[in-house]
Amino acid sequence: MEKGDIVYIEKDFENFSLKKYYDKILIITDKNVKKLYIDDFVKNIKYDNVLVYDIEPGEKSKCLNVYEDILKFCIMNGLSRKSLIISLGGGVVGDLSGFVASTYMRGVDLIHCPTTLLAQVDSSIGGKTGINLGIYKNVIGTFYQPEFIYVNINTLKTLQKDEFLSGLSEVIKYGLIYDCYFLDYLMSNKKNILDLDESSLIYIVNKSLNIKIDIVKKDEKESNLRKILNLGHSFGHGIEKIGKLSHGYAISIGTHMAFRLALKKKFIDKDYYDKVVNIYKEYNLPITFKGIDSKYILDIMKKDKKNSYLKFSLVLPVGYGKVDIFEDIKEYEILSVIEEVK
Ligand code: NAD
Ligand code: ZN
Repeated sequence: MEKGDIVYIEKDFENFSLKKYYDKILIITDKNVKKLYIDDFVKNIKYDNVLVYDIEPGEKSKCLNVYEDILKFCIMNGLSRKSLIISLGGGVVGDLSGFVASTYMRGVDLIHCPTTLLAQVDSSIGGKTGINLGIYKNVIGTFYQPEFIYVNINTLKTLQKDEFLSGLSEVIKYGLIYDCYFLDYLMSNKKNILDLDESSLIYIVNKSLNIKIDIVKKDEKESNLRKILNLGHSFGHGIEKIGKLSHGYAISIGTHMAFRLALKKKFIDKDYYDKVVNIYKEYNLPITFKGIDSKYILDIMKKDKKNSYLKFSLVLPVGYGKVDIFEDIKEYEILSVIEEVK
């Protein structure tokens, strides 16, 4: 087990325990999460020197100003290289805290306590940290692994329904790219998952994060594999930006487009296509959109750093629970599926 692969999935904060001595602990959280969980969390850390820094909730806090304010707070409060930073919150808190931890005094220890489904299955895993520079997302960042990740599964029970469903879109993605049996599980346990049944939540979070850990690890040797995590994301980014949809909703529409293209190219059969469309429908995730000019989506895809000028690089399904990376998808092919999915 290496740093970053150590994950505890628990039903509360009671089993949180530190493996080392730290002179000070800084918990970075946002105002929503603070209100709900900070008292319980601090009580369970059982440590004297605990400081809390809360940011405004939302993407706009992932910026240089907030980063600078936190650094000043660290200096003013005497955080040293023997201090620890804990992120308690969603992906915004995690990305920002990770960036602070990796840069303050050239790096202090970090622990992630993710509280959104997206953070539990995706953003807390893999070591990517970062902040935005104006409209440019995640352009400043580092790779920095936490000492461990501590998931309190019951924090999902206070999450807004939309946020939960948005995270589920990434959970479904793991089945589509890596594990066909997981897709069957998601189909047959829909009611339990949507009712936030504890053991079903533990199962899906555990399965998802282990798939991501596996992919990220193998990527060190097979330099392309990590790209499969982008299924639906090339199409999705275009829709997310223009349609002002949540990330997860844009990804379910984007994945539908990828499946549609794969069907047209005969990489997959109609049965599989129908099955996947059905999963999204069952979970009330959108697979179509209205009111956006297809050419705008195409333009954003062209500007996407993963695409060269004339050809598109796309992750497409090639079988049940299997995908591949294609580097030579033509513009007219992309445009035709965007049109069809409208
Ligand atoms: P978020 O952190 O903004 O959280 C969403 C909302 O849920 C916020 O309002 C927050 O206050 C609230 N919230 C958090 N936990 C809660 C809880 N338990 N109960 C009630 N409310 C709660 O959004 P997110 O979707 O978790 O993360 C999105 C961010 O993650 C983006 O900035 C994205 O770039 C980043 N991301 C990073 C990676 C990575 O590899 N580092 C991967 C994917 C996404
Ligand atoms: Zn995503």
